[in-house]
Amino acid sequence: MENQEIFSMLATYDHEQIVFCNDNATGLKAIIAIHNTVLGPGLGGTRIWNYKNDAEAINDVMRLSRGMTYKAAISGLNLGGAKAVIIGDATKIKTEALMRKFGRFVENLNGKYITAEDVNTTTRDMEYVQMETSHVVGLPESMGGGGDPSPVTAYGVYMGMKASAKNVFGTDSLAGKKIAVQGIGKVGGHLLEFLHKEGAELVIADINENVLSHYASTLGAKVVAGNDIYSQAVDIFAPCALGAILNDANIAQLKCAVIAGAANNQLAEEDVHGPLLIQKGITYAPDFLINAGGLINVYQEHIGYNRETAYRKAEHIYDVTLEILKVSADEKIHTQKAATNLAEKRIQDIAKVRATY
Ligand code: NAD
Repeated sequence: MENQEIFSMLATYDHEQIVFCNDNATGLKAIIAIHNTVLGPGLGGTRIWNYKNDAEAINDVMRLSRGMTYKAAISGLNLGGAKAVIIGDATKIKTEALMRKFGRFVENLNGKYITAEDVNTTTRDMEYVQMETSHVVGLPESMGGGGDPSPVTAYGVYMGMKASAKNVFGTDSLAGKKIAVQGIGKVGGHLLEFLHKEGAELVIADINENVLSHYASTLGAKVVAGNDIYSQAVDIFAPCALGAILNDANIAQLKCAVIAGAANNQLAEEDVHGPLLIQKGITYAPDFLINAGGLINVYQEHIGYNRETAYRKAEHIYDVTLEILKVSADEKIHTQKAATNLAEKRIQDIAKVRATY
């Protein structure tokens, strides 16, 4: 890849910096992308993935880092957006030495980038990273960290869902509402508990049958097979498994009034499928807004962890969701666009605040 191509990629979404990290001894090949640090240091997890080629890795890390900028901005955090990827098969390349070497590269950025766990990295890996740098969050509670962020993520999704319900049904009570949840993992499981407590009627799907039987017997959830989840006649659909599931084929099957879930990048193509949902009369709670509880939790770790504060901040997702739904209706733009606009506005406003000494 020629230099020119990389710089034009950086310029497309105004990325600040991209750092390539190589170490033959450990086999580390990592890329750290820092998208925007107007609001604060760029925070984003480290993903290990066996990319087909370098270009695919660069694309992914740049896209993900930009997403982190918006998630932090809309959540009112003093954080910028960044992300890291380590190239390779996690089951083969991951060692203490590789993670610590990566930690040294993070340390060299002097706090401009703060790392955390992501796909194929764990709290344990972050313990290794922390041996070489203090610019890491997502540590276990026993080490002063915030532990698993999933319960706070689920709580934020729950808040976003209630706000959407208020907007659509005139009440934020979920009692008696029929809610379909796709993906009963760390977030989906906690979300089900919140929904059950409020008296919602649950429909669930997952590729892992063990988790399904547990929630069928303990919460009385109705289990449906895999992709049948899309065509359920429900009030609310909560995608908590995969990205890009809001595509032409799946949207055509939906029979819900609201979509509010934890999965990242749910819209296959924002400017195609955002408007398509409006046409179908479905209210979509923007993913990066309502799933920000995890980021809110690790941000608390960065400034001094307090679980209560993390939940209180995640509760604010309710108000922001209502605001976004109003802007979307007033300005006749899809909700993801309204959320992106609000995030960009905060960055621009705070950049002006910081323009003088
Ligand atoms: P997880 O891996 O614990 O759970 C995902 C679940 O989805 C698993 O049970 C898996 O079996 C299931 N699944 C996978 N493919 C499926 C399919 N085709 N149909 C139905 N189920 C399927 O992950 P998680 O931490 O619960 O995160 C869920 C989603 O939320 C992910 O997209 C993640 O990126 C996003 N998210 C998570 C957090 C967090 O704090 N964990 C924060 C923000 C966003």
